Amino acid sequence: MNETKHTDIVILGAGYGGLSCVTRLSRKFRRDSSVRIHLVDRHTYHLLETRLHERAVRESEITVPLSRFLAKRNNVTFHLGEVTHIGLDDRHVELDFGKTQTSTAQPRRIRYDYLVIALGSKTNFYQIPGLEEHAFQLKELEDSERIRDHTEQMFAIAASETNRNRRKEFLRFVIGGGGLTGVELATELAERFDALSEQYHLDPSEPEMVLIELADRILSSLDGKQIARSVEAMQAMGIQIHTGTRVTGMSEEDGRLLVLRNPGDPIPTRTMVWTGGIRISDLIRRSGAETGPQGRVVVNEFLQVKHYPEVFAIGDNALAMQPGNDQAVPTAAQFALQQGYLTADNLRRLVGDRPLRRYKPKVLGEVVSLGKHLAVGWAAMPVGTQLRFIGFLGSLIKRAISERHLFLLWKERQNWSGHW
Ligand SMILES: Cc1cc2nc3c(=O)[nH]c(=O)nc-3n(C[C@H](O)[C@H](O)[C@H](O)COP(=O)(O)OP(=O)(O)OC[C@H]3O[C@@H](n4cnc5c(N)ncnc54)[C@H](O)[C@@H]3O)c2cc1C
Repeated sequence: MNETKHTDIVILGAGYGGLSCVTRLSRKFRRDSSVRIHLVDRHTYHLLETRLHERAVRESEITVPLSRFLAKRNNVTFHLGEVTHIGLDDRHVELDFGKTQTSTAQPRRIRYDYLVIALGSKTNFYQIPGLEEHAFQLKELEDSERIRDHTEQMFAIAASETNRNRRKEFLRFVIGGGGLTGVELATELAERFDALSEQYHLDPSEPEMVLIELADRILSSLDGKQIARSVEAMQAMGIQIHTGTRVTGMSEEDGRLLVLRNPGDPIPTRTMVWTGGIRISDLIRRSGAETGPQGRVVVNEFLQVKHYPEVFAIGDNALAMQPGNDQAVPTAAQFALQQGYLTADNLRRLVGDRPLRRYKPKVLGEVVSLGKHLAVGWAAMPVGTQLRFIGFLGSLIKRAISERHLFLLWKERQNWSGHW
């Protein structure tokens, strides 16, 4: 009997990079039944990670069920599970179902001909003593919900606390890291203080937001003028900004936390959120792929993993270099998306034995929200100019970027099936 030889393409991660890759791949191979596409993720939804800070403060729809993107795509199989092993030498990955609570299920092994690693990043606590144990992080949907519940609890407890110093501890919120995530979270939370104070009959001058940053300025990827205007806007919200300050540790006694810093006295609080850095999962380093700073995988100009041309790494996982200099492409959703689409095109070329297209990062701009109705940043305009903004327009642009991402994913589907 003549058995059809299949080509299996496995994509690990349904985030910005993985999902853009899968939706385009599925369309590219829609008439080729010999190619089977497999998507693996620990969740059944696509998380809009760039909007996690919103959910940490208020009700906000930041997940989209994967089934919405994969419906009618007969050439894609979704595998729900935790990737626990990547075997680059014998071309397979292993999935565990522990986190999906199907305790009877055995770990599953999936063989691949081509692999795309798009597993995103984790919080880097830099082994600062006590930090991982006592601080919240903001990476997953559950993290944002934990922060929101905890904030509400702190106000509720403070409402019946008669000792002023103790009450202030409940109402002091500390954020470590003055990059995009730290600033977006600090401003969203600070904006909510008045409403929570009113709800719990507290003096609105008592809640405090403290932002600690190691560098001598926050939002270091923006220009000096925009940083100054952001600092102004944040100070107007009552946010205390401590730049040039290193978080050196955290300790706890009877639920009371101390954030140790240098320079400066320890800060007593009940809430610390750490947004000071990212790293890549050890799982990827253990695969044998060559890794660089933050554990990102060294890739060539086509985003192929060194020594493994059948394997691509994209998004936060990839240590892609800017053409013409030795700067790494930053970890950001816009680059993950571009890399996902390009990798789908290149996989089509690879299977068809055609030359691959080089990766050229396109910087579309940068937008940082400063609360619900304000944002600062810039957008690339035609003929190499930049539109710089701070204000309500910025928040509309920020929203439009997120909507555009979903629109492009839908568009891949429209092109695939002719309607959506
Ligand atoms: C709060 C916050 C705000 C941000 N704001 C912006 C912004 O405004 N603009 C911007 O450009 N960037 C922003 N970023 C960065 C941006 O979100 C990331 O660079 C982007 O998500 C990277 O995309 P990715 O595809 O590499 O990974 P992700 O989008 O993180 O996707 C990784 C996927 O892999 C899955 N996964 C991970 N490990 C496993 C495993 N072991 N097994 C199974 N599944 C697994 C995850 O569930 C996830 O679906 C922000 C990040 C945060 C945290």
